Amino acid sequence: MLPRIAVIGVPSDWRPNRVAARINDDLDLPENDPDEVISKYKFGDRNSTTCTWVIECKPNIRNIILNRKKLYLGWSACPVRDHVRILRCFKCQGFGHMASVCKNKAACSRCTGEHDTKDCTNNGRPSCINCIRAKVNEEECFHEACDNKCVTYNRRLQAHINNTDYGQ
Ligand SMILES: [Zn+2]
Ligand SMILES: [Zn+2]
Ligand SMILES: [Zn+2]
Repeated sequence: MLPRIAVIGVPSDWRPNRVAARINDDLDLPENDPDEVISKYKFGDRNSTTCTWVIECKPNIRNIILNRKKLYLGWSACPVRDHVRILRCFKCQGFGHMASVCKNKAACSRCTGEHDTKDCTNNGRPSCINCIRAKVNEEECFHEACDNKCVTYNRRLQAHINNTDYGQ
């Protein structure tokens, strides 16, 4: 897999091809250069005038972009950083897809129950459905599925990093 970079503060109304074209311009890459960056998807607050764009590029271009720390797109200086993330579904807590396309049963991030996390009334110790599914040691399952220290999430993340071509 190629590395991905988050470009922060891109005007929300820019189309994907405009985002890529402006970044390639800023990097002085001629049109149809094999090193061109590709715009993948954006995220951010729907009501904001700017958003974050995730782009994909070759390892050498990643180094150039990260060394610059910012891309100059239109009037905006857009900070950049590595984008390494595993999607986690807010409905079933599973990895690799979003709730909008989820066909699984709901699983609460806090207590693993079959309900929306926001409807949770369970005040007991949290437990993580993903760690339970992955058969992690029981004592390592006592956290919410959204917790950054989740063992299962971090294994996925590390596997993803190992599969990414950083050029060395
Ligand atoms: Zn899901
Ligand atoms: Zn719950
Ligand atoms: Zn976990």
